[in-house]
Formats: sequence, structure tokens, C-alpha cells
Amino acid sequence: MSLFDLTGRVAVVTGGNGGIGLGMAKGLAAAGAAVMVAARNPEKGAAAVADLSASGGSSAFIALDVTDESSCHAMVEKTLTRFGRLDILVNNAGASIRKPAESYSASEWQQVLDTNLTGAFFCSQAAHPAMKKGGGGKIINIGSMMSIFGAGYAAPYAASKGALVQLTKSLAAAWAQDNIQVNAILPGWIDTELTRAARREVPGLNSRVLARTPAGRWGVPEDLAGIAVFLAAPASDFVTGAAIPVDGGFSSVGV
Ligand code: NDP
Repeated sequence: MSLFDLTGRVAVVTGGNGGIGLGMAKGLAAAGAAVMVAARNPEKGAAAVADLSASGGSSAFIALDVTDESSCHAMVEKTLTRFGRLDILVNNAGASIRKPAESYSASEWQQVLDTNLTGAFFCSQAAHPAMKKGGGGKIINIGSMMSIFGAGYAAPYAASKGALVQLTKSLAAAWAQDNIQVNAILPGWIDTELTRAARREVPGLNSRVLARTPAGRWGVPEDLAGIAVFLAAPASDFVTGAAIPVDGGFSSVGV
């Protein structure tokens, strides 16, 4: 078996209908996986599936709200019905609400935690039986530079992404016996809808990111494709519980 061959594997990418999720989905499809794109917006979902199909991959869209536990279970059931198995789960769905820490309502706090942290847990729990039955699996959680650093304008987001790394380690320990590897990717600053909004709302963000990133540029979603394939493939079978920055060097330097 080739180290990076995903032929015959089935992947679900939550939030795979755009941004980083679609960038990773393209990588998984190019390596041979069938990809289920799972998110809320069906128009973006259809466009993503068309994009993946144009490059020859087998893919489909399923409506998913990761904050709804029953929706996560339905996503797994429908993936099994459509593709017959589930080998790879990318917990990529994410959201942020940016404002001063003192002004979050309880529901705003909960919304961010439910999407970024609890949603990843629900989807992982839902996927576990199918992966175990299939002889193993790969779970890839999408953290952030805010898994490492704080952010005065995004307290719940940073809290959720920090906790996601600890969840990654815990699930890695829990499910190693089932041959399921669980790892996290910590993207640096990537040009997507999410960060376009951040650039509008946080003064000076663009120039601070460029000055702080040794690579001297924002990342693009396709920059995450290689690491996604590695963590989904046999090449990473002895890698579990890791949190790997893909950040153009952002987390490697001080001021
Ligand atoms: P996008 O806003 O483009 O993507 C977020 C995706 O999550 C969308 O496809 C959205 O689809 C989906 N989503 C949001 N809420 C839910 C939900 N409740 N249920 C299901 N899907 C949901 O941003 P990015 O591509 O930038 O973000 C992708 C991930 O990468 C996030 O986890 C983000 O935190 C993380 N990240 C991004 C960085 C960056 O610089 N861009 C840096 C570090 C981490 P829909 O609205 O259709 O549901």
C-alpha cells in the first residue's frame, strides 16, 4: 500500500463547502478518497461538489449542523448509505464572534463553543463505531494559532481552539486501541471568508499578520491539503495526539 494513497477510503469534511475545508477536501480527493462535504449552506455545498467532481473525485453534499448532535449522527448514517464506509473525519466546521471579552452574551459564548469544540466531539463520537467496525480511522481536528496564543478580540474562539487540542489528545488516547489516529492541524493565517471578516473588523490585522509571518504571506486553503492527506493516509499510522502548525512559521518566532 502506498504511503499516501487514499483509494477506496471515504472522508467526511465538515465545513467542506468552502475555505480551508474545501482546500483539504481537494487534497483528499486527489489522493483517491471519496469525499462527503458536510455543512449548512447547500448552494455552497453544490458548488464544492461540482469543483471536486470536475477533478474526477467521487463526492456528495450532506446538510449538517455540528451544533445538533442528531445531525452529526445522521451525517454518519448517510455517509455509510452513500459510500459504504467511513475512514476519515475532518472536524473543520468553525466560527468566531469577535468583540471585547466583557461584552459576550451567554448565547454568543455558547454558540462558538458549540460549533468549534462540542461539534467536533459530537461528530467524532458519531464516527467512532463505523471507524472501529472498519478496522480503524483517522480524525483530523482543525485548531488554530489561537490553540496556542490568546486573542483579546476572540476569547470564546481561542478557548474553543485551545480545548480542541486537549480533546485531540484525549480521543487519541481513548481510541488508539481501535486503530484510530486523532490529530490536530493548527493553521496560521489563511485567506478565507472567516479571515476576510476578521480583517474588516480588527484594525491593523493584515499588516500585523504579514509582519509576523516569516513566509511573508497569508496562506491559501490549498496550503492545508498536504498535511490533510498525510494525516488521513497510512503514512501517519504512528502519529496520534499531535497538533501540527501549518503557519508559514508564525508560531516559531517571537517579536
Ligand atoms: P470559512 O468561514 O470559510 O469556513 C467555515 C466553515 O464551517 C464553513 O464552510 C461553514 O459552512 C462551516 N460551518 C460553520 N458553522 C457550522 C455548523 N454549525 N455546522 C456545520 N458547518 C458549519 O472559514 P475557514 O475556512 O477559514 O475556517 C475553517 C476552519 O479553519 C475553522 O475551524 C476555523 O476556525 C479554522 N481556522 C481558520 C483560519 C484562517 O486563517 N482562515 C486559521 C485557523 C483556523 P456553512 O456556513 O455552510 O455551515
